[in-house]
Amino acid sequence: MDDGGSSILSFDLWADAQKLFSGGVNSPVRAAVKPYPFFVKSGKGPYLITEDSKTLIDYVLGYGPLILGHAHPKVIEAVREQLDKGWLYGTPSRAEVELAKLITLHVPSAEKVRFVNSGTEATMTAIRLSRGFTNRTKILKFDGNYHGAHDYVLIDAGSAATEFGVPISQGVPREVASTVAVCPYNDLECTERVLKDEDVAGVIVEPVMGNMGVIPPDIEFLKGLRELTRAYGTILIFDEVITGFRLGLGGAQSYFSVTPDLTTLGKIIGGGFPIGAVCGKRDVIDSLTPMGKVFNAGTFNANPISMTAGIATIRELEKSDTYKVTERATRILADEIDNSIKMEHVVNKVVNFFQFFLGVKEVKNANDARKADRGLYSRVHENLLKLGVFIPPSQFEALFTSLAHDDKVIEESVSKFKKVLEELT
Ligand code: PLP
Repeated sequence: MDDGGSSILSFDLWADAQKLFSGGVNSPVRAAVKPYPFFVKSGKGPYLITEDSKTLIDYVLGYGPLILGHAHPKVIEAVREQLDKGWLYGTPSRAEVELAKLITLHVPSAEKVRFVNSGTEATMTAIRLSRGFTNRTKILKFDGNYHGAHDYVLIDAGSAATEFGVPISQGVPREVASTVAVCPYNDLECTERVLKDEDVAGVIVEPVMGNMGVIPPDIEFLKGLRELTRAYGTILIFDEVITGFRLGLGGAQSYFSVTPDLTTLGKIIGGGFPIGAVCGKRDVIDSLTPMGKVFNAGTFNANPISMTAGIATIRELEKSDTYKVTERATRILADEIDNSIKMEHVVNKVVNFFQFFLGVKEVKNANDARKADRGLYSRVHENLLKLGVFIPPSQFEALFTSLAHDDKVIEESVSKFKKVLEELT
């Protein structure tokens, strides 16, 4: 493949990057790629093309947003059109109204929306909102759930926080940490105990845990959260940054038929451009400035590029076979992986994202996930990479499929997974 004339390869870039960035990267999980992070020069459909001119089948997909695959023509067209018209006005624009209409149409809990720039900002704002609205302080979260990189949620956080051994980050004030209670995922008894004993402003939960690998919820757990939060006057926040518009147009709340008070969105709703959103009950969202007294603001909030890419993506989701294709791709691949692993293992899958755990029988919460053989997972990652398949470098992330993962791509992937798994497990 043409290398675009560049003679600087990943290895050289990595040498420079280590001098320039902490650990050579700008988001920690990227440093877990073995033997060292490859640098990407382009993405197309299900593929990444590296600076070393290797083509990789991509199951990371930017950690979830790219449900249509890389460089989808409809998103390119929409963003190009917007670029010609300018990309930042500091005023409202038509696109934000259109995207909010799509979100309120599809997401059951969404009556009103506030756009921000990342999932992190979305959960930070949702937590502040629940505190402001209820006039209470305490938050309840679940062990291993990851809600971004701000102080309120870096307490028993999954994803890279667990991968790099800092589930409670240094620098989070003890006073802040003491306002956050933590229960095991899928544990209603603990939840009820906390709600009974403390004045809890909000319960925040990933309706499918996607940041300790993939861990499905017990449906009774989600229903129980809804009943308990209602009984105790607590705001229920579904963090659907991963599941929003992935499990279907209505996200996890439609899929499981449980409607929270607030929902945080990100990833897919920006079509791969930076975005976040808090949406929910009208009276809660109206507590935000300028109507209410809970402050939120942002130079780039509702910027026209992210809005436009999000609209193009959701319109494509409305009319394409994306959910059929991604569900089928995930089912075939996850089943073949399941059949190829000979040692004790479990494959957890929900619709169109999944993860496998080696050396454990079941994974229903973060503690189970921590017992999996991470070293062996990492070797599977490394050996797949040699064969041209990119899966997350960390056990505590998820494999995603996209509209571009057609039967041919899946067939090729299956044979490579089989080769690696039969050799290593
Ligand atoms: N919430 C969940 C469930 C996530 O998976 C993530 C990121 O992976 C976030 C929040 C934070 O989103 P962002 O990385 O856009 O800040």
